[in-house]
Amino acid sequence: MQTEIYLDTNATSPVLPAAAAAAMAVMQDGFGNPSSSHATGLRARALRESVRASAGRVVGAGDGRLMFNSGATEGIQTAVLSALCAVRERRARGDACGDIVLIGATEHKAVPESLAHWNRLLGTGLELRVLPVDGDGRHRLDVLRALAPRVALVCTMAANNETGVVSDLHGIEAVLRDTGSDALWLVDCVQALGKLPLDLAASRIDYAPFSGHKLYAPKGIGMLYVRRGAPYTPLMCGGGQEDGQRSGTENMAGIAALGAVFSALERGDTFRDGAALLACRARLVAALEAALPGIVFNAPLAQSLPTTINFSVPDVASATLLDLFDAAGMRVSAGSACSAGKAGSSYVLDAMGVPAWRSAAAVRLSFGALFDDASLDLACERIARCGAALAAPMPVAGAEPAMDGAIDSAMLVPADTARDWLAAHPDAIVIDVRNLREHSVAGAVSLHGRAVRNVPLACVADEAPQWLGATAPLLFVCRSGARSARAAQAVRAMGHPGAWSLVGGFALAI
Ligand code: PLP
Repeated sequence: MQTEIYLDTNATSPVLPAAAAAAMAVMQDGFGNPSSSHATGLRARALRESVRASAGRVVGAGDGRLMFNSGATEGIQTAVLSALCAVRERRARGDACGDIVLIGATEHKAVPESLAHWNRLLGTGLELRVLPVDGDGRHRLDVLRALAPRVALVCTMAANNETGVVSDLHGIEAVLRDTGSDALWLVDCVQALGKLPLDLAASRIDYAPFSGHKLYAPKGIGMLYVRRGAPYTPLMCGGGQEDGQRSGTENMAGIAALGAVFSALERGDTFRDGAALLACRARLVAALEAALPGIVFNAPLAQSLPTTINFSVPDVASATLLDLFDAAGMRVSAGSACSAGKAGSSYVLDAMGVPAWRSAAAVRLSFGALFDDASLDLACERIARCGAALAAPMPVAGAEPAMDGAIDSAMLVPADTARDWLAAHPDAIVIDVRNLREHSVAGAVSLHGRAVRNVPLACVADEAPQWLGATAPLLFVCRSGARSARAAQAVRAMGHPGAWSLVGGFALAI
């Protein structure tokens, strides 16, 4: 199998080896509960506080508070609850208070969904309005200015997860200041951490959620910054951890891992710096332009994170590119990971007014600050291979068989049993039903040492007669198990009782 090149870091990143080691050390030796008053607990508490201090220096938390939590969705939830409770209290006191919440049109769904949820549950009755963005993905400051006197809470992410567009936070702050707005301000800093300079306490940002797994820490650990004096309502109550602000015994392994990431950021010796990231992007962009004629970049690169490239190629569906890149061992995504399972356009690109074809065909490539030169060279080489495969004429093949009802579980081979299945069926023929382009970029492929024949799904019906007379079992394989199930079903329907499909495809058969 070829080396995997991971280009989907905005969805989640690998874990920094030092972060994994720090988490392991906490689980094996420093397992104390920071609330305990004995030495084991005190050591855990000291670790937690040193990570908080380091995090505070990196994000410029100043005299604001940084709370550890499970990730950005929880941080957003807590910020929204805090802001809406404050609105309710102001109203109950008869104080003047805005009646709308302005939500950036390109926010991660966690923001509008949390707002709709808590607005309903708390009965705040605020009007939830979209703050539009311009063609470059930047918030419309003229709309903010016009609505500012009515705004109780404004939500504007620091950088977008799909496009990498960096928001003009200084411009937003200036509008809030110039209009004398007393709106609370939530800034989702998930994609900015480690990529953009942050000096939170020097701004008037009230709430800033962070997520560890976007920056080389594990999933399940995050932080919320709350400006000194900003209203706060705990989302979780119980044992009174985090000074009563976020109950629940701390995820110390996650905190330790996050601490290793912050230490690396502070030392400046682990991650590529901004200039190096820009150089990486320039090479990837050049490789994409050379390989994919007509490529259009969906966000202005000069105003985007150096680590995110969002593009569309005329007449090439995002699913085609995703399958092709995957066959070449490169993991990219269409739009955001959360919506990867859903077909259709990107609401982020739609909000920018990008033409419908580009929104539907968009592909996101995102890399992290640990991306090394060897991976970069390989990625550029493979992008060129994908371009050549796309340019090659595709011979006309038959129609791909459709799925006919539910899959019969009797024809499925679970990925974790594939090795045993192959051993039990030494005469089995393994058939890769991905398309010709995927075959050409994947190169020679084997399955647990067994040779694999390439027969695109559209050619399975034509090729089937040669298998029907023989008794050898057939194991169909594809990228994820969807196309191979169709192949197995079609061949069984044609009369071969020993046609099987590998569940989960090559993705799980490692
Ligand atoms: N905000 C942004 C911009 C994100 O990219 C994500 C994750 O995709 C989130 C919030 C949610 O973060 P978490 O997975 O930590 O809940």
